[in-house]
Amino acid sequence: KPKIPFPVIQSIDEALQILKKSFQKDYIDINKYINGNPYVLGISNELSQVIINILQNAKDAFLQHDCKEKKIKIKVEEDSNNVYIIIEDSAGGIDNSVIERIFEPYFTTKHASKGTGLGLFMSKLIIEKSFEGTIEVSNTEEGACFTIILPLYTGST
Ligand code: ADP
Ligand code: MG
Repeated sequence: KPKIPFPVIQSIDEALQILKKSFQKDYIDINKYINGNPYVLGISNELSQVIINILQNAKDAFLQHDCKEKKIKIKVEEDSNNVYIIIEDSAGGIDNSVIERIFEPYFTTKHASKGTGLGLFMSKLIIEKSFEGTIEVSNTEEGACFTIILPLYTGST
């Protein structure tokens, strides 16, 4: 597939557009903190797919833990080499025994009818193979934090 330069905000907005109604219905509050308008090289829809996977997992975690406060922050930052897409939720975070396995194919803590365990595996594949980037997970005070690091497109390849 030909790679095309596109603004990461395009993928974020596409993902949010698709999930908007369903997230509103569950009173999930999503806030964006965008600095600049960084471009990356790849396929926009593939990055949207990754963001949808991460956001849907956050929604599942909110509902599973019956969270009162359902907040998601999406941050975009850049430095001279990279773009950082940071997605944080307030769903309580991920247990140590789980967090070390979440990128494995078929690893899920959900009922078989709800989760295939392929979402984060596929997301990692897309980020690494299509974008030559990385994806990492950590816990914050409130919940899980996914950081996608992509090479910044500067126009000079
Ligand atoms: P699935 O959603 O089908 O279970 P994923 O690969 O998307 O598969 O996620 C794997 C597992 O990672 C989930 O089953 C869940 O246990 C854990 N997980 C992912 N995101 C979060 C999150 N935001 N909060 C808590 N647990 C999470
Ligand atoms: Mg999933």
